[in-house]
Amino acid sequence: MDPKFVDKKTIDEAYAAIGRIRERLGRAKPNYFIETYGCQMNEHDSEKLAGMLEAMGYTRTDDRTKADLILFNTCCIREHAEKRTFGNVGFIKEIKAENPSLILGVCGCMMQQKEVAKKLAARFPFVDMIFGTNELHIFPQLVERVMDGGRVFEIKDTEGEIAEGLPVKRCEGFSTFVNIMYGCNNFCSYCIVPYVRGRERSRRAQDIVEEVRRVVNDEGYTEVTLLGQNVNSYNDNGIRFPELLRMVNEVEGLKRLRFMTSHPKDLSHELVMAMAECDKVCEHIHLPVQSGSNRILKLMNRRYTREHYLDLVRDLRENVPGVEITTDIIVGFPTETEEDLEDTLSLVREVGFSAAYSFAYSVREGTVAARMDGQIPEEVKKERLKRLNAVIAETAVGANDKYMGMEGEILIEGRDLRGEPMMFGKLPSLKMVYVKGDESMIGKYYKVRVTGTRFNSIVGEIID
Ligand code: SF4
Repeated sequence: MDPKFVDKKTIDEAYAAIGRIRERLGRAKPNYFIETYGCQMNEHDSEKLAGMLEAMGYTRTDDRTKADLILFNTCCIREHAEKRTFGNVGFIKEIKAENPSLILGVCGCMMQQKEVAKKLAARFPFVDMIFGTNELHIFPQLVERVMDGGRVFEIKDTEGEIAEGLPVKRCEGFSTFVNIMYGCNNFCSYCIVPYVRGRERSRRAQDIVEEVRRVVNDEGYTEVTLLGQNVNSYNDNGIRFPELLRMVNEVEGLKRLRFMTSHPKDLSHELVMAMAECDKVCEHIHLPVQSGSNRILKLMNRRYTREHYLDLVRDLRENVPGVEITTDIIVGFPTETEEDLEDTLSLVREVGFSAAYSFAYSVREGTVAARMDGQIPEEVKKERLKRLNAVIAETAVGANDKYMGMEGEILIEGRDLRGEPMMFGKLPSLKMVYVKGDESMIGKYYKVRVTGTRFNSIVGEIID
């Protein structure tokens, strides 16, 4: 067994613990509530925790006051994350006072930072369970230990492993996530992820294809997003990401295939061609640029240049007709000058992103950038973010105009209740289209013609 995989005996032990808890709960129908912060990785981890809880006999509730088990799956990426998490955990004290048998757990990336986890454990003695990102496969045993009267503090420092075969309770809908790899080796100087998610490790290609087959054929999903911190460095004994994409593209019944996130330094021409040639792969790529200044990119340890990024954009646009590119951008990185910012603004104008997620740099303790000289004052960061957002808005609106009169297929996701009720769904390019209709359309694909544009979306009419 490859050391990066959790062995079968450990997975069997998790199932045995699930069985014992099920027996212990007997006819009781306890509820669970999970609050998830952060990225899709965390969302998907919560789906695994939910899968195990449902196998134990718990039922999901959206009302935390009615829950018998509450989990906070935390994130440490966003600013003030710690303050927000501590505040939310503090609120549970009253619920716990009314229901002393309530089990309260805190897990996820923030807890993988041991010092923060210790602080939380000391401040909130009523928290029963604290565990990190590498303990998902022993979650049933942790619950059992709490049921036996113990308090759990379990955070392993391992580089991380892959646990196959645990139950998953996916969010309802028609679109779902499948992890293809975990961790990150890149150590961008501002980012905490490599410290809390461990080193890069890829799942077996065959396991991924099987999982996609299962979610499509047994669970009815038609759109799958392959997930990883840096999918472009996926490597299962020589099977690289373009090949994996081609393998998943063959799954019968699958209609749309997406992936995220791509690191520009690893985006190959081969992947661009796989996107062009695989009929189910959507014409969209999320390609975080972070800055348009080569000096700042170097300080960020991104290992590509502005010129390289623009070459990638050209390659994508030449070979994948209609492709939309979305991105992440940080302003106010240590030492950023007006000139650096201008480089970023000009890159945004040049690329014409269909959407860009913009952030003012904020310190993540333990990272290289946190120790850099030349930290930018908050007011300056705020002002730069405002300028960036204005340019993003201006280019995104321009990017919508090209859709006028176009025809394409959307997957209806829901009803928009603001103003005149409309149904909404996405084109393969991820562009949201609003159309007239009703709830019976949810989960179905419709051919539409674009008849108008809005700030962030477009309006269309159904033609088929
Ligand atoms: S690629 Fe960089 S930004 Fe993305 S998770 Fe890894 S270290 Fe963080």
